[in-house]
Amino acid sequence: MLKVSKVNTFYDKAQALWDVSLNIDEAEIVALIGANGAGKTTLLNTISGLLRPASGSIEFMGQRIDGLPPHNIVDMGLSHIPEGRRLFTDMSVHENLEMGAYPSRAWKGRQETLERVYQSFPMLKERAGQLARTLSGGEQQMLAMGRGLMPKPKLCMFDEPSFGLAPMLVLEVFQVIQSLREQGITILLIEQNVRRTLEIADRAYVLENGRIVLEGSCKQLLQEDLVKKAYLGL
Ligand code: ATP
Repeated sequence: MLKVSKVNTFYDKAQALWDVSLNIDEAEIVALIGANGAGKTTLLNTISGLLRPASGSIEFMGQRIDGLPPHNIVDMGLSHIPEGRRLFTDMSVHENLEMGAYPSRAWKGRQETLERVYQSFPMLKERAGQLARTLSGGEQQMLAMGRGLMPKPKLCMFDEPSFGLAPMLVLEVFQVIQSLREQGITILLIEQNVRRTLEIADRAYVLENGRIVLEGSCKQLLQEDLVKKAYLGL
């Protein structure tokens, strides 16, 4: 479904990604693991078109997407729920969700999609008229996730969705991600909670200093010394 091949991305002269390749099949949950500054967010931003790779290629559903503007990529069914949520804080919950349905493919059926999002996140329905900035951190994360579903994505990329949340809410975020996969949505997940991530994902890639250094099924990676020492504290 997604094929990233030998991607190199720079910030001015500083190279942040080095020959990064990654594949995701339909209905998989694939995790991207790495320390702070490893390049995880840079990779997601490169896939979603916010950054342009200097070389390499990115295909989504068999079509080249590197070089396309982000709104075209969303329109094709690839949704990015960024780090830090990036909500429209002075707009209501309902308006934030509607903003997520702007791709032409999603706009017509937005009422139906909205009902589905409200089913997944009943709290958002209760707070539909409330300004986003008045929500708690956990509620804001649910809103960011709900908004990411409004363009009717086939693949969702989540950048640290449980960051800063209380343990109960972390659990809820992981449950939502699993339920999205059950609805047929493919997932690329960056998470600091490595143990739980490796429990719900099918496969994972480990990124260090802008390079993929390990990849495999989560079962295999849980046995790797590098993963045990660097990410599981064993
Ligand atoms: P974190 O978990 O802290 O978000 P990350 O794995 O997502 O880390 P990136 O944010 O992708 O890492 O950063 C990768 C490298 O690119 C780092 O060396 C970082 O300093 C650099 N970098 C990130 N954003 C910029 C930017 N806007 N301008 C210049 N360098 C940047």
